[in-house]
Amino acid sequence: MKTKTRKQPGRPAGPRDSDLETIQNEIVAQTESQHLEDWVSVDCPYCGEGIDVHVTSEQDGQSLYEDCGVCCRPVSLWISVEDDEFQVEACRS
Ligand SMILES: [Zn+2]
Repeated sequence: MKTKTRKQPGRPAGPRDSDLETIQNEIVAQTESQHLEDWVSVDCPYCGEGIDVHVTSEQDGQSLYEDCGVCCRPVSLWISVEDDEFQVEACRS
């Protein structure tokens, strides 16, 4: 019975180039600081005609009044910004 004793080559216990994952934390730009503006077309709640409203991101969560250019009645507009898109709701004021 032969027993071979092999001497293991001494391995340096240094750091290996293992798969070190570099986790990047992407800093999402705050949409609050972004200035957005757009023209949004809404339907007049009185006559159904389209009204072009100029909205900006500063008006997020605000409501304003716009007179319909066709029937001249005051339209209440509720402006909100979601995912860089304007949502404008028109209702009778
Ligand atoms: Zn109208």
